[in-house]
Order: sequence, then structure tokens, then C-alpha cells
Amino acid sequence: MTTTEFHVQGLPVSAIADEFGTPLYVYDTDVLRRTYEELRGLTHPAVDIYLSLKANPNISVCGYLGSLGAGAEVSSLVELETARRAGIAPEDTIFLGPGKTRAELEACVAAGLRAIVCESLEELAEVDEMAVAAGRADVPVMLRVNPDFHTKGSGLAMGGKPRQFGIDVALLRNARRVLKGLRRTRVTGFHAYMGTRFLRHEDLVHNTREILAVASSLADETGIELSLVDFGGGFGVPYFDNEPDLNIPELAAGIEATVTPFLEDHPDCRLINELGRYLTAGCGTYVTRARYVKESMGERFVVADGGTNHHMAAVGVGSFVKRNFPIRSLSRYHEEPTGEYTVTGPLCTPNDVIGKRVALPEVRPGDLIGVERSGAYGPSASPGLFLSHGFPAEVMVHQGTAHLVRRRDVVDDLLGKQHLITF
Ligand SMILES: *Cc1c(COP(=O)(O)O)cnc(C)c1O
Repeated sequence: MTTTEFHVQGLPVSAIADEFGTPLYVYDTDVLRRTYEELRGLTHPAVDIYLSLKANPNISVCGYLGSLGAGAEVSSLVELETARRAGIAPEDTIFLGPGKTRAELEACVAAGLRAIVCESLEELAEVDEMAVAAGRADVPVMLRVNPDFHTKGSGLAMGGKPRQFGIDVALLRNARRVLKGLRRTRVTGFHAYMGTRFLRHEDLVHNTREILAVASSLADETGIELSLVDFGGGFGVPYFDNEPDLNIPELAAGIEATVTPFLEDHPDCRLINELGRYLTAGCGTYVTRARYVKESMGERFVVADGGTNHHMAAVGVGSFVKRNFPIRSLSRYHEEPTGEYTVTGPLCTPNDVIGKRVALPEVRPGDLIGVERSGAYGPSASPGLFLSHGFPAEVMVHQGTAHLVRRRDVVDDLLGKQHLITF
């Protein structure tokens, strides 16, 4: 292929595409490691960094971050099992989610997690009963708080307004009796998550300061000995033109300045910063192959073999006006753009557009097109079953070798679950 093509750890992308087929996701562990280690190095030692599996539940992504020291924040039985098989200990795993099933809660109680994050007082009572029934003692629980302070700058706010998540602060302030009545669970602290895609460090520092203040005052009012506080995360990644990168050194310094006085008051408390997008987005590229290049009424289209069925996020996360993710010609990576192309996928809907009027070098059929910063909220947040294309392959490049970390769906993966009744 051309010499100007994109490489991952020295491997030409065309070789990866030839070996595993397209469309596919490629994850680069060098980028994962740099992202994690930079943040770890700048973060206060009392703060543990957890991967939110929701952003990328691939077991090798989870396993690699786990091997670097990350814990896991999970929200379903399969995510819990993913973290376990990936080698992350139950003591380094927390489970949250607003509508956990009884089976999930029982698995949490049995697993001996670092904490079950309860999102209502009713759920807390249920966990306590399960702990009694299972003959467990001292099951650690964090209470998810829906704080009442105002948050700015999120692409999608999850707290600070009426939400199905967590317990309103006002309710918790009067919960001392309920908490005292717990038999086999121990409330070790509080959890709050204000939203996703924050790109201004000032906003994230503000959230952290407010969450720690809420946790402190709630501990006083309810008589809880704080040993664990999870202050969410929501660190953003810029996707669109004119969006700045988060300033991680400033952010880490700002968080440290709020954590230090908090820890003087609560010297035995540890903290968790749970992150999905920030840890995983940068390592991933969604790779599709141009099938046809065509023109319609003056607009040029690249029709590729994969689209929004695998990458719904590229359609524009929480924004009304559609904006493009970073899209590049991977086959002509180092060539200058010569024109604009609308990049579409294989679905029979006009909404299957992954990039509108993207500036690209000349695109020819067979060229590889990449959507960058796609390691978060990719396949798992996409309608992979639409038109029954199934999910794409996922490949991880580690130490210069490409490994298949999820095979592409085949016919039986989809049809094998269906039953034809007789007529
Ligand atoms: C989605 C979610 C996360 C991960 O959010 P990112 O913005 O991807 O880091 C963390 N915590 C909770 C409670 C979430 O719902």
C-alpha cells in the first residue's frame, strides 16, 4: 500500500485490516498506558483510579488497565464478570446503577466488593436483608448522592437536578436512624457523579470540591465514619473543532488542592475517581473501508463498510448541531486534504452518516477511513444489530503485535438465538 498510511506501534493499518477484516476497532496499548500513567503520576496517592467499564467493556482493555493498577466500576453482571476475569480483584471493584436486579445484588454481596453503591434507601434496605440471608457481615456500601449544587460545563448532566440516580442530599440529611438500623451492611462513604464530557478543569475541580464538602457534612449529620468517597469523574475528551484538551496538570493540581484539606479532616479516607471516556477514548480508532466513492447532486460520498451501526457516538454526542468526530484517511494519513466527502455506512437509512463534509485527501474505493478517539462508547453504545450486520472485530495492538480481542459477529451469533416456530 501507500507509504503515507497510518501505523499503530509500527504496524501498517492495511496489514491489520487485511488480517482481521473491516470494519474493526483498533486499540493501541501505548496510548492507553500513556493516558493512565500521566494521570496516575499527577493524581494524589489517596485517590484510586477506576475504569468505568461502560465506556469500553472489552476484557483486554479492562485487563490492561487493571495490570497498570486501575480498579473497576461496573454496572451489570457481565461487567462484574468481565472485571473478575480480567484480573481485577473484587476489593478493587465497585458496582453501581439505578435499577440493579436481585441477581446482581446477590452477586455483589457474594463477591465481596470494595463497595456496592446503593442508589436509594430502599435498595440499601434490600442489600442489608440479603447480607443477613447470605450470612455475611459488614458488607461495605457507598451511598450515591444526588447533590444539590449546580454544575456547569457537562455534555450531559447526571446530578444536581431531578434524576433517577442516587439519593437526594435532603433525604440523606435525615437518614441517621435508617443508617443506624442497618444490620449487616456498613456505609463506608458516598459516591457522586455529576455528568460526562467536562472539558474545563475549573468545572471538574468545582465538582470535586463540592462533592467532598457534601460528603463531609453528610458524614457529620448521619454519624458515618468516612472511609471511601467516590467523586465521579466525567473527564472529557475533545472530539470537535475548537474544543480544547483538558489541562490534566492544572486539573490534577486543582483536585489535589481540594483533596488535601479534606484528608486532613478525614485522614483514613480513601477516594475513587472513576473514569470511562478519558481513559479509553484516545486509544481507539474505528477503521472502515471505502466501498464506493460517488456523487449525488453535487455532494461527494464515501460509502464505507461500517458506520453508525458500530459507532453511534460519532453521530454527535448530546449536540443538536451535528459535528464531526476526527476522521482521517488512514491509507493517505500524511497527505493533505484535497476535498470534502460525506462518509456514510452500509445502513439503509439516511442517518447513517459518520462524518458530514469531512476534509480528506482523495479517497479511492478500498481506502481505509478512520474515526479517531473512538475507544469509548463505541460498539457497546451502538445499534450493532440494526440490519443484522452484527458487531465488528476489536483488535488490540500491544508491544508491536496485533491481537484479536473480540471476534467479529458471524451469522450464528445473531441467528442462533432466534427460533422459527412452525406454521
Ligand atoms: C457513565 C458513568 C461514568 C463514566 O463516565 P465518563 O464520562 O465516560 O468518564 C462514571 N460513573 C458513572 C456513575 C457513570 O454513569
